[in-house]
Amino acid sequence: MTATSTNTFNADLIQAFPDAEKRVLLLKPRGFCAGVVRAIDIVRIALETFGAPIYVRKEIVHNRFVVNELAEKGAIFVDDIDDVPSGMRVIYSAHGVSPAVRERSKERKLKVIDATCPLVTKVHVEAVKFAKQGYSLVLIGHRDHDEIEGTLGEAPDVTQVVSSAEEVESLVVPDPERVAYLTQTTLSLDEARDIITALKARFPKIAGPHSQDICYATENRQVAVKNVAHEADLVLVVGSDNSSNSNRLVEVSRNLSTRSHLIENSSSIQPEWLEGVKTVVLTAGASAPEVLVEDVVNYLRQKGFGSVEEVEVMPENVRFGLPPEIVQAIAAAPAIPAVSA
Ligand code: SF4
Repeated sequence: MTATSTNTFNADLIQAFPDAEKRVLLLKPRGFCAGVVRAIDIVRIALETFGAPIYVRKEIVHNRFVVNELAEKGAIFVDDIDDVPSGMRVIYSAHGVSPAVRERSKERKLKVIDATCPLVTKVHVEAVKFAKQGYSLVLIGHRDHDEIEGTLGEAPDVTQVVSSAEEVESLVVPDPERVAYLTQTTLSLDEARDIITALKARFPKIAGPHSQDICYATENRQVAVKNVAHEADLVLVVGSDNSSNSNRLVEVSRNLSTRSHLIENSSSIQPEWLEGVKTVVLTAGASAPEVLVEDVVNYLRQKGFGSVEEVEVMPENVRFGLPPEIVQAIAAAPAIPAVSA
């Protein structure tokens, strides 16, 4: 078993002492979301079933530890679909791909396994629907993010990306009465709300998704930080610097005037951050494995944070099914002989 496939937290590390001078509040929910678990499982099962190498377009999820671990098992991560040798097996990352990438894969006769998170696929479907109905689309998100690149590709001729409320002013559309908006799944709830408010002020008839595009995992982790940040002198977020939802957790905390840092693991912590700190709130972005959270808890314990308490702000029990290519591969795998008693 590897750190990412088990992804459990060592419960022995949770020991709450009310009298302790320094404490860690470990937020729940934190870390892996259902889309990340599914994407990592897809790569792991593909490697076990089909054997290495398995190509993966882009980082399967935005976490360096996870990517390195899968690379050690035989996954080859590439930036461009043209870097996959013709006819080989390739996995699309959890962030999704544009139709142009799908088309290029077909031309190159690649065997595709799609690990796009179903909640990202939902946004793609909405983009196609609005474009077919003749809307101009405003996609709220970060231009350089893999997810935005994929969603934008569904209707590039009618879609514009905005990243701030200020940018709404400079939008030019052929018919202001026929505008729709969609959002990246991993935005800050507050920032997205401000941009949507600006859009509604500029285009009063603007259409939007049936249900919010910001996913449940992004929302839950932000709500957890909002609920507990006021108790903290410092909020630490475990996640890689290219992880959108992890960066948003830091912003949420800073917007509440609580100091916060994004850390890859315990070695990112600067000792001076802990000076005078009595309560650290610790959380993790949706692509950060529990093994890294454990590493940070162990570090903080060594630094005198004697009490480690888990604070569950809300339950979270979401699971996504595997794609058909993986289900079929599992079904076709030779049965493991029964062990006689
Ligand atoms: S953060 Fe949300 S959209 Fe992204 S993989 Fe996880 S569940 Fe899916």
